[in-house]
Amino acid sequence: MSVTRLRSASLPLVGSQAAHALVPELVVISGKGGTGKTSVVASLAVLAGDMVLADCDVDAADLHLVLEPTVVERHGFVSGHEAVIRQEDCDACGICHEVCRFDAVQRVEDPPGFQIDPIACEGCGVCVYLCPAQALDFNDRPCGEWFLSDTRCGPMVHARLGIAAENSGKLVTLVRQQAKQVAVSGGRSLILVDGPPGIGCPVIASITGASGVLIVTEPTVSGLHDMARVLQLTQHFAIQTAVCVNRWDLHPEGTTQIEELAGEHGAVIAGRIRYDTAVTRAQVEGRAVVELGGPAADDIRELWARLRPWWLSYGRARP
Ligand code: SF4
Ligand code: SF4
Repeated sequence: MSVTRLRSASLPLVGSQAAHALVPELVVISGKGGTGKTSVVASLAVLAGDMVLADCDVDAADLHLVLEPTVVERHGFVSGHEAVIRQEDCDACGICHEVCRFDAVQRVEDPPGFQIDPIACEGCGVCVYLCPAQALDFNDRPCGEWFLSDTRCGPMVHARLGIAAENSGKLVTLVRQQAKQVAVSGGRSLILVDGPPGIGCPVIASITGASGVLIVTEPTVSGLHDMARVLQLTQHFAIQTAVCVNRWDLHPEGTTQIEELAGEHGAVIAGRIRYDTAVTRAQVEGRAVVELGGPAADDIRELWARLRPWWLSYGRARP
């Protein structure tokens, strides 16, 4: 099996990507947690300089632990609706309790009546429509917050999804849109996105229309399996994809397997990163590993030297 290794030459644009490439946007994903993706993103942010960071891991963001952002703007994120009973107008007929298919309307005894569990409420609006007393409000649902911050590497847009809140895909889309605005208004030439794990809605929201995807994986059975799933996604959306194997020297045969599989899916090999205790030390100290130095830092610098021209090639494309 032949494997394409990324060198300093640019790769061609794929399909409609040129139309989206106003500011090149590289999304780093992993397919699973624990591959070291965020450590790699933090180091790339240090190396990239002239960029905007977007932390799209909105369910469990941790890039801020390394980059220690200073919040400049803070905004609420609302998505969908939730029904709320105005008790003073409710005559306790129980119709809302009967019609709710999500068991979100609960009977209460003291005083007798009904109340709505905001976590169970799916915001379908049926109870609001059918309440004979019009005793239900249908409020916007607060689902979290998003922030614009300053970091030592440049501006960063990040977010926090509320506890038990849904619609993380919409929040990811919002974070990317805001990062693009910051990049355009600030004349920044790059957007670096720390994507969420998995292959679900938030990942799809984070890669759709992106200039390129970097998959950070590890040489384990689950690393191989999960990388295969995200490769199917990037292939489906026709996004140019590069793969990097973290801690590759812990299992060289597994690394070869991963690189061969990546090649079968049309991805290029952007680099390998050695196992290095400096990565853990960097996490403890709240720094990027390239700020400490060591074998992993050297490998990430090499990775960036290969990725940068590939990434910037999209920036030259205009609709
Ligand atoms: S349908 Fe309206 S009036 Fe009847 S119990 Fe529900 S909120 Fe109260
Ligand atoms: S809005 Fe829909 S899900 Fe929420 S309480 Fe009413 S019927 Fe149930």
